Amino acid sequence: MIHISATDRVFVLTGAGVSAESGIPTFRGAGGLWRNYRIEEVASPYAWQRDPRLVWEFYSMRRRAASAARPNPGHHALAKLEESLQDRFSLCTQNVDDLHEQAGSRRVVHMHGELFKSRCDRCRRAPFDDTETYEPPRDVPRCHCGGHIRPHICWFGEVPYDLDKIADALDQSTVFIAVGTSGLVEPAASFVARVRGRARTIYVGPEEPANNFAFSDCYWGKAGELLPQIFRCD
Ligand SMILES: [Zn+2]
Repeated sequence: MIHISATDRVFVLTGAGVSAESGIPTFRGAGGLWRNYRIEEVASPYAWQRDPRLVWEFYSMRRRAASAARPNPGHHALAKLEESLQDRFSLCTQNVDDLHEQAGSRRVVHMHGELFKSRCDRCRRAPFDDTETYEPPRDVPRCHCGGHIRPHICWFGEVPYDLDKIADALDQSTVFIAVGTSGLVEPAASFVARVRGRARTIYVGPEEPANNFAFSDCYWGKAGELLPQIFRCD
């Protein structure tokens, strides 16, 4: 049981494992392949410069896969926890799908971007909702400024979003919970080291993460099975 007292502030980091339980394929990370391309070859600024159509083909496929997926009991358990803790709860996800939002989570920080948003690669226009698919013969969409519209995704070699906001939430937290994340992808893998010694550090997932040593408690199993029954709030 994860006991949460009336003064605790909880920071939850979710990773690919949570989405995988809803049937969303994991592409990010070493060894990921799509149609014989290494993921780095379709998810980087270099790939975008070289072949934006191929990049949009990849993200169109991912949009289709994600729009067929539904949140699992793990997503719902986190939305429920947010409802009881309100602003004593922060949720940061490495996932780009919208399953947390679908489950009812209201303040989700997507550090690696959002699959159903796009932005201009030239002007400062804010990222906007976009569920379209852009595959041949459809051309790469253009902004009114003349730039190309790209997925609002943090690609390999780019800086993750909202790191200041994340750092503030981490520094205020007294309970840190990582769920279904490999502990390999930086900077998320280092969040636990930042709070360790000051906050309780808890891991929930089916496999031992690479940064296992940094957690004080580990719960082995599926997020969808553990999260609905693991929290006890005062
Ligand atoms: Zn533009």
